[in-house]
Amino acid sequence: MILNAFNLQGKVALITGCNTGLGQGMAVGLAQAGCDVVGVNRSGARDTPALVEAAGRRFVNIDADLMDSSAIPQVVEKAVAAFGRIDILINNAGIIRRQDAIEFSEQNWDDVMNVNSKTVFFMSQAVARQFISQGGGGKIINIASMLSFQGGIRVPSYTASKSAVMGLTRLMANEWAAHNINVNAIAPGYMATNNTEQLRNDEDRSQEILSRIPAGRWGVPQDLMGPIVFLASSASDYVNGYTLAVDGGWLAR
Ligand code: NAP
Repeated sequence: MILNAFNLQGKVALITGCNTGLGQGMAVGLAQAGCDVVGVNRSGARDTPALVEAAGRRFVNIDADLMDSSAIPQVVEKAVAAFGRIDILINNAGIIRRQDAIEFSEQNWDDVMNVNSKTVFFMSQAVARQFISQGGGGKIINIASMLSFQGGIRVPSYTASKSAVMGLTRLMANEWAAHNINVNAIAPGYMATNNTEQLRNDEDRSQEILSRIPAGRWGVPQDLMGPIVFLASSASDYVNGYTLAVDGGWLAR
């Protein structure tokens, strides 16, 4: 029956940056659908383990700073040591730096590109190698942005990095579909998390954004639960290389 195709019972999901915001929401959604969760965080695990365990699943935390791709091999090794395999990778960890383009610093460029693009590619490569050695394929879901589609303002490295995420999602899908690996992305709209705190605190920008969202509200982490479970499950086996906007209609406007 079709609803069985959404069931993730016994699957192992590796998710980067799941202490807060969208990563935490997706970790809980995946646990509710049946996944054990490996979280990768630079600052220890906070309340996500308890939320995953409340859903009846196991949680293991791996400490790693994803600014540096040299952390990746041991992340995969520790995840496999903990649960024996990986079935799903969610590349969620991401940062943003706001500064006028005319003044934008090289540091703000490199830091954002490292976490949001370079680590996304090399983490995907490492986990795809694990999928291939396990056999049976796997699911990779990258977290893109409205700025995979649009230019944005005062966030040049973020726009570059998230545009790269959409392109890399297509490239990896093309190369790895033959191994039964699906690579898709979710492009969240404007969501109420730490990432957008500065924007939401700016009365004018906040009103400007809100008035353009057809749904009439900022998104919340729970809005990603359905889409992530769909893309992580066999219900989406023939969806590959696609970036799904979860944006309250923002891009349709
Ligand atoms: P958030 O609450 O700031 O979450 C970002 C997560 O990434 C945090 O868990 C953070 O860990 C982790 N992280 C950042 N740098 C890291 C590093 N060097 N190593 C390991 N982990 C690191 O913001 P969010 O909105 O949930 O963001 C999640 C993803 O969604 C990001 O990729 C973001 O670009 C994307 N996104 C957000 C929105 C939005 O409107 N909020 C829209 C589109 C896309 P710490 O807790 O330790 O800082």
